Amino acid sequence: LPNSGNSIRRIFLLFYASRGHKVLPSASLVPDDPTVLLTIAGMLQFKPIFLGQVPRQVPRATTAQRCIRTNDVENVGRTARHHTFFEMLGNFSFGDYFKKEAIMWAWELSTTEFSLPVDKLWVSVYEDDDEAFVIWRDEVGVPVERIKRMGAEDNFWSSGVTGPCGPCSEIYYDFHPERGCSDADLGDDTRFIEFYNLVFMQYNKTEDGSLEPLKQKNIDTGLGLERMARILQKVPTNYETGLIYPIIEKASELAHVSYSVADDSTRRGVRTGRLLGIKGDGKGNPEGAFSPSIAQKVIELSTEIDPDMLEDALSSGQENGCTPCLSGKDAFLLYDTYGFPAEITIEVAEESGVKVDMDGFDVEMENQRRQSQAAHKAVELAVGTDADLAETIPDTKFIGYETLSSAATVEG
Ligand code: ATP
Ligand code: MG
Ligand code: MG
Ligand code: MG
Repeated sequence: LPNSGNSIRRIFLLFYASRGHKVLPSASLVPDDPTVLLTIAGMLQFKPIFLGQVPRQVPRATTAQRCIRTNDVENVGRTARHHTFFEMLGNFSFGDYFKKEAIMWAWELSTTEFSLPVDKLWVSVYEDDDEAFVIWRDEVGVPVERIKRMGAEDNFWSSGVTGPCGPCSEIYYDFHPERGCSDADLGDDTRFIEFYNLVFMQYNKTEDGSLEPLKQKNIDTGLGLERMARILQKVPTNYETGLIYPIIEKASELAHVSYSVADDSTRRGVRTGRLLGIKGDGKGNPEGAFSPSIAQKVIELSTEIDPDMLEDALSSGQENGCTPCLSGKDAFLLYDTYGFPAEITIEVAEESGVKVDMDGFDVEMENQRRQSQAAHKAVELAVGTDADLAETIPDTKFIGYETLSSAATVEG
């Protein structure tokens, strides 16, 4: 399909592949990085390269990275553009090209490959980044009234409190150019949507908050797949794109409630599902959960970006001689690390005629339980049990009747 999520992803990766970028896979949602809990952007897997801690394997790379932003949870369902889980398409330069190429290519991709009309595009630059401003104005030819200088909150990007960072430049799509330029505000989401961010990664923010220049200047970008799909598919929210709408339709079917009636509440998952009146699994089993049916739909939608995880495990299970069987270890890894419920693994495996070694799975689960008990014991040995601890604490005396102010303090 021309403007489908899959075709947007393919166009993006091909565009950069044909400009010398190596297409690399999406990294784990759980990064090997103590400064963030989850993968919030495409750059995380490259952080050690940006910081010069490991040598680059290639000078340029491009990825389609699944991201989770828990800091956007409050926005979900309230704005039409924020998800907790979304896909970021990115192009990266490791000490290779810098601002000019990044800007020129982002513009070319947007206006030729995605055919966005040039008079509907606005850009922002960091307030004192004259270099980026001049490239947009003179090399690309964006009229100055559509280039906005913005402060650090929007236009200085960093992945965490410390680490690689730098000024950035964003491209916005204007749904209402007829409103004119004079008092346009890029933060007005009834009119604009940011879809592409180009980070000129040239500093490392240290513990004390100071910025030290990195050895090399890098490029890190992110284009939101769901947002581009919304623009190209001309739908009013990201939820109505082909990337998400089939999930809503499935939920509507299980709940016997149409999306227009459900309005903005379908978006908040299981609790809302029950409020909508989905009984049991929605398929007649009153004891069942309905989320596996939804999950099945999500899996169908994500096979193009993520065909491998379960399939790799299935074929390695076969190589290890337990044909046709998925090892308990692999099933447990899918469960414990990647969050696949065992029932889903069994269902998908069965579709390929493969059995799952659930006895092996139970053994892994038991090991896991023992390990965490042992860890608990070790902590008890070191600091004592709660009961031991309680014995060492002197009796507390209530003095609230005598001194009101300290009573207030106790109640907090
Ligand atoms: P916004 O200002 O809309 O919150 P952002 O500036 O926080 O977006 P970036 O950190 O620049 O986003 O991420 C790069 C791109 O990823 C964005 O331009 C956007 O297309 C996409 N993106 C960011 N956050 C989300 C989200 N919560 N859901 C969907 N797409 C997102
Ligand atoms: Mg944001
Ligand atoms: Mg922004
Ligand atoms: Mg941004």
